[in-house]
Amino acid sequence: MDNSTALCAWNRDRVLKLLDILLNRYTIDLSEFVVGHISTIEKPSYFEILVAIILSQNTSDRNAIKAFKNLKNSLGLITPEKIIKLPDDYLASLIKVAGLTYRRVRILKALATKVLETPDIFSKIENAEPEHARTLLLSLPGVGSKTADVFLLMVLNKPTFPIDTHIDRVTRRLGLASPEDDYEDIRVKMMNLLENDVNKLRYMHLLLIVHGRNVCKARNPSCSQCVLVDMCCRRL
Ligand code: SF4
Repeated sequence: MDNSTALCAWNRDRVLKLLDILLNRYTIDLSEFVVGHISTIEKPSYFEILVAIILSQNTSDRNAIKAFKNLKNSLGLITPEKIIKLPDDYLASLIKVAGLTYRRVRILKALATKVLETPDIFSKIENAEPEHARTLLLSLPGVGSKTADVFLLMVLNKPTFPIDTHIDRVTRRLGLASPEDDYEDIRVKMMNLLENDVNKLRYMHLLLIVHGRNVCKARNPSCSQCVLVDMCCRRL
């Protein structure tokens, strides 16, 4: 194996070393993440958490947290019944800060309707095997792969690996993901490399986001200040 091939080849030991380096480099502030932030609220319901994750789609966690707080301040406990009863324009005004406003209004109303139609959906998800729980989540309106995986890993402690825009970019630059890999390829690859260890998957998920936000930015990554430069495929 020549040097360039070795730099882009990943196995379990190398991934564990990567995780170790990131753990030593960063302190995770959970309040900067939607799920971490709303977990500071006294026992948020599964519906509330799912609403918050949906608010974070295609926007920053900061804006999603603001939108969620607006909803919470207006409704108190956020329930499907209350969401359905809210006039569209009023709901839109509460979540506007997250953007894609009326699309999100439609999604939240559809989600609330579905949850009311299947009141045991969250207990089914909670008690199901991880991949079946994922299938159940994906059947809900507004829930795509990333939303389902964040809910499973960060809320239900089930093994999976959510990939956001930062993780997608960083894993490709590191050579952990190849150019042709799609979301599912990267998810399965990371789960295999970390042997479905929920704790490691969670830390890796959070730390790659922090690294992408602060150092391996979309434009002009700070490679000269990067602790991963010696193991990064992009520096070739
Ligand atoms: S060396 Fe550069 S491209 Fe590679 S992970 Fe670090 S910042 Fe990103």
